[in-house]
Amino acid sequence: MNEQFAHMIIAIDGPAGSGKSTTARLVAKKLGFIYVDTGAMYRAVTLYWLEQGKPSIQEFILNLPIITLGIHPETHEQQTFLNGIDVSGKIRSREVTENVSYISSLKPVREKMVEMQRNIGNSQSVVMDGRDIGTAVFPNADVKIFMIADIQERAMRRLQEMKIQSIMPLPSLADLMETIKQRDAFDSSREIDPLKKADDAVLLDTSKLSIEDQATKIIELVHTFNNQ
Ligand code: C5P
Repeated sequence: MNEQFAHMIIAIDGPAGSGKSTTARLVAKKLGFIYVDTGAMYRAVTLYWLEQGKPSIQEFILNLPIITLGIHPETHEQQTFLNGIDVSGKIRSREVTENVSYISSLKPVREKMVEMQRNIGNSQSVVMDGRDIGTAVFPNADVKIFMIADIQERAMRRLQEMKIQSIMPLPSLADLMETIKQRDAFDSSREIDPLKKADDAVLLDTSKLSIEDQATKIIELVHTFNNQ
């Protein structure tokens, strides 16, 4: 018999490259929930700032773009739209990655994105990944996971993803490790909703776990919660 789920929110947070997106997407698929990649939303705002020629922050926050998501419950792929244009590929560029921590640290940007994330999660069961889902967006999420992995492993995974996405030129592993470290340090030390494990989140070290194993562990937690 198929297990029935009430409305549920599963929050998956963690540093860059810890395996969140791939695992979160697989968990959503197995449970029949939608998947939301919140990093893509901050990336789209960053792309807009870059496309506007890096205006001053005072000017920029008066004119924030409209970000919308194309959520596809069948494939669990997410499309990200910036003022109506699909920028799902463009938001993965190196320039966006280098600037996203700065733009996502701005209060008006976070307020706007968090409101949208809450609207999505309140209307349907969701697996949402990011940095502050379990601490700020949904502090009452039903299941919270904080994923970590060795820095070298994370850089190797990112490199692999970049190859698949045909991002050119590819950085060296050492450069990638350095930029991931810098981004995590910035995300962890920002004033508003920093990257941080919620006290009640389950820590999952994915360094030596396959994607299937990671998804299985999370689904076990969901079943335990659901049968309580
Ligand atoms: O997940 P991804 O690496 O694409 O996230 C890009 C950036 O977006 C992060 O480094 C962080 O600065 C920001 N972010 C955030 N809060 C989230 C998700 C992402 O601040 N919930």
